[in-house]
Amino acid sequence: MRFSRLAAAAGIVALGAAMTACGSSTKTSEQAAEPGDNAGGMVGVTMPTKSSERWIHDGNNIKAALEQLGYQVDLQYAENDIPTQVNQIENQITKGAKLLVVASIDGTALTTQLQEAADRKIPVIAYDRLIRNSPNVGYYATFDNFKVGVQQATSLLTGLGLKKADGTDGDAQGPFNIELFAGSPDDNNAPYVFNGAMSVLKPYLDSGKLVVRSGQLDFGTVAILRWDPATAQRRMEDLLTKTYGGAKVQGVLSPYDGLSIGILSALKSNGYGVAEPYPVVTGQDAEVASVKSIIAGEQYSTVHKDTRQLAAVTVKMADAALRGAQPEVNNTTDYDNGEKVVPSYLLQPVIVGKDNYQKELLDTGYYTPEQLK
Ligand code: BGC
Repeated sequence: MRFSRLAAAAGIVALGAAMTACGSSTKTSEQAAEPGDNAGGMVGVTMPTKSSERWIHDGNNIKAALEQLGYQVDLQYAENDIPTQVNQIENQITKGAKLLVVASIDGTALTTQLQEAADRKIPVIAYDRLIRNSPNVGYYATFDNFKVGVQQATSLLTGLGLKKADGTDGDAQGPFNIELFAGSPDDNNAPYVFNGAMSVLKPYLDSGKLVVRSGQLDFGTVAILRWDPATAQRRMEDLLTKTYGGAKVQGVLSPYDGLSIGILSALKSNGYGVAEPYPVVTGQDAEVASVKSIIAGEQYSTVHKDTRQLAAVTVKMADAALRGAQPEVNNTTDYDNGEKVVPSYLLQPVIVGKDNYQKELLDTGYYTPEQLK
């Protein structure tokens, strides 16, 4: 299999369906608003859950920035429950929202609500996660998800010594035992991240320098529904019991800090971190607990996505759409949602480890030193 951005796009919906629907005649929410109509109007913001710190930052940042521009904000969290999120969006439409910003739980579950929004000319911005199967997604703001996976896999190679920090070949030869985890199968980001990672790991798997002893290599098998840390912990425990009798796992591709914490717990209860060092474990989001774990020498790395930047880009998009102007985008090719290629603004993620957390997370004011103690 060729792990490409295209493969990622096809991860949830068959490509054929995606292509045929492109010319759909259904109304879209991209129609520009009448200038002045929306000043001080209400913007509905829906986030997936408060159980992961990043979404709390995202929600607060968006709310504050929109309020500064004079908009009212209805900010809702759904604790990863799809019907709750559907209700929240419906309520916001009923309450007269002028625009919706949606970080979806299940990217395929909002087609009806987005059609309702389009019928009332309410523009929709997909936030961080693409909403699929709808022609009514006006814009998409996110980090380059394929690149997140590339960075995770590259840092796995660096941690194992197969690559040096400057990108040249490392001195280690392997073979190293690794296991793979991916994000939630209903989150459009998850296959993008996984395919980005596999694009880097595949040559090493093919040459035998990396070995997945469990044989569990495909997205469907390694994906963790709703990015649930407890599920990842159970899977890691199972892998250690069933596959690693006398052998040791030396690397774990983890797509998100919450899963990394679960994975490290499973490793700890199997003797890693004491007699045996922890394997190289990756992550995403630079959550406080994981940054502390990195500083303590447990988790190896995380991918930092500055939620302040994402909120700023999104609010700029929202304000433009609400004023009847054209929101700025920088990608019009990569994010096909099964109905159309959604005009997107992609931000750049940064890999963070022990050597650069000071520069990336403290010097930038993302965290205070006290938060990381
Ligand atoms: C986001 C990640 C996050 C994950 C779990 C993904 O859609 O892009 O930043 O780690 O969801 O919340």
